[in-house]
Amino acid sequence: MHIICSDLEGVFVPEIWINVAEKTGIPELKKTTRDEPDYDKLMRGRLKILDERGLKLADIQEVIATMDPMPGAGRFLDWARRASQIIVVSDTFIQFAGPLMEKLGFPTLLCNTLEVDDSGRVTGYRLRQADGKRHVVRAVKSLNYRVVAMGDSYNDISMLKEADAGVLFRPPENVIREFPQFPVTHNYDELKAALIPALEGGA
Ligand SMILES: [Mg+2]
Repeated sequence: MHIICSDLEGVFVPEIWINVAEKTGIPELKKTTRDEPDYDKLMRGRLKILDERGLKLADIQEVIATMDPMPGAGRFLDWARRASQIIVVSDTFIQFAGPLMEKLGFPTLLCNTLEVDDSGRVTGYRLRQADGKRHVVRAVKSLNYRVVAMGDSYNDISMLKEADAGVLFRPPENVIREFPQFPVTHNYDELKAALIPALEGGA
């Protein structure tokens, strides 16, 4: 018995904050977990910029509504549900994920929550738990499942390390260099080819 635990942004959907940066014309919002390993520092910086620019939750949701999953993501998820089972484990927020989850056929999603005041201003964020991605893998392993984790970035590494096997998908060069122990894949066909032996315990 096995389960895939997968990241969301950079694997099935584009980076939400990069799209927000482009559509709002605020280049400072382009920084992601691919550039900044300290998630709290990254988020505090983002919230400060939103405040300075007067951007509210509805403004970001408007951008997200125009986004589509990466080509082939839906088909890959269908394959993953047949070959195994899949849980999407993300550092994004439930207030952001809705429209994209609909376009992906509502896979199971574990993620975080934004704190928003009555005026729609984003005042803070609540992590489901610290190091949540790793804890999901630990919990599923405790149910006697073999877990294969996949992701693209720094915030996936503790999940990949905790899993029985980990696979990187289109990671940036710095992540490849720092974590050479994980196989690197560049498209969904390569990902499937890496996951099949990993699920069976052969890699
Ligand atoms: Mg990612």
